[in-house]
Amino acid sequence: MHYDVIVIGAGSMGMAAGYFLSKSGKKTLLIDSFNPPHNQGSHHGDTRIIRHAYGEGEKYVPLALKAQELWNDLEKISGRQLFSPTGVLNVGSEEADFIKNIISSSKTYSLPLEILDSIEVNKRWPGITLPEKYIGCFEPASGVLKCEECIEAYRELAEQHGATILTNSKVEELSVYDKRVTVKTTDQTFYSDALVVSAGAWSGSLLSMLGLNLPLNPVRKTFAWFDVNEDLYNHKDFPAFSFETSQGQYYGFPSIDSSGLKVGRHDGGETINLNDSLLKFGELDKDETDLRNFLQHYMPSTKQFKYGKTCMYTMTPDEDFIIDLQKPL
Ligand SMILES: Cc1cc2nc3c(=O)[nH]c(=O)nc-3n(C[C@H](O)[C@H](O)[C@H](O)COP(=O)(O)OP(=O)(O)OC[C@H]3O[C@@H](n4cnc5c(N)ncnc54)[C@H](O)[C@@H]3O)c2cc1C
Repeated sequence: MHYDVIVIGAGSMGMAAGYFLSKSGKKTLLIDSFNPPHNQGSHHGDTRIIRHAYGEGEKYVPLALKAQELWNDLEKISGRQLFSPTGVLNVGSEEADFIKNIISSSKTYSLPLEILDSIEVNKRWPGITLPEKYIGCFEPASGVLKCEECIEAYRELAEQHGATILTNSKVEELSVYDKRVTVKTTDQTFYSDALVVSAGAWSGSLLSMLGLNLPLNPVRKTFAWFDVNEDLYNHKDFPAFSFETSQGQYYGFPSIDSSGLKVGRHDGGETINLNDSLLKFGELDKDETDLRNFLQHYMPSTKQFKYGKTCMYTMTPDEDFIIDLQKPL
């Protein structure tokens, strides 16, 4: 069967690509090893933070703002509530690059940002105990996306525009020769004029079939939900957050509709062999203690652990994103 475009991997990136391609009239096939959204890759766990004044560098701000515009469009088109404008509180030392970048990003792009010292942070959000050495940069216009529902919304719309979505089908072989793409699953072969590889943590092995050897390192990440006093941590009063501390880098979410406070660790994690199964939350002793340690220091009013999950980051050596286009050979 021949398509204009084949998208390998219909997760966060691929499902969005499939929607825009099919909407533009391209005959599009999306292929996924599982049935997205699912809990085997990088997109599960209910929520994701979207930040605008980007701490990883000003160069990402136009992309973040465009992404926000597209999420707002998706809400309108799908009729779903996908974004919660909780605001995002970024915490760190005044000298940290992350904090400096946030401040300069907000200045360059005129983004709303409130810079608060620790006393102001502790007063405004009594659920936080911030030591004097840190400041808070609060982005009131940023917030939280329901990440799995975003994929469901794009999936529904892509199908309405005629995209074919082949689930539970792993791509085993891939080649591009003489401007023709050939993609093989266990039992079927497809052809196309163009190809999108958005296979998340598995991208390295698929791209290597095209002679593209990228330094991608899949890493196991942990996150968990904790019971809280709703008066302190509910999503109408408490922001999403990103903390760069001497104990490590942590991020988290307010209790959304009484879900509990969700917290995860951004730095560290274990390199994964994708042929092995991903160790579940709790299989390593540090999984819970690591997150608890953060909460004890900075949000000591949080209560019991509810449950935790693991997920995968795909890391590059400099932690910058790889977004690129390969012209036909
Ligand atoms: C714990 C955690 C917290 C995060 N928090 C944030 C956050 O707050 N804000 C933020 O912006 N980002 C966050 N991220 C990152 C964000 O979730 C990811 O960047 C994003 O989900 C990656 O999307 P993707 O499409 O690359 O991968 P995925 O969504 O994992 O999609 C890849 C898809 O490819 C499929 N696939 C792989 N190999 C094959 C194959 N051979 N054949 C067919 N299909 C295949 C997989 O089944 C999968 O569905 C977080 C990630 C994690 C893990």
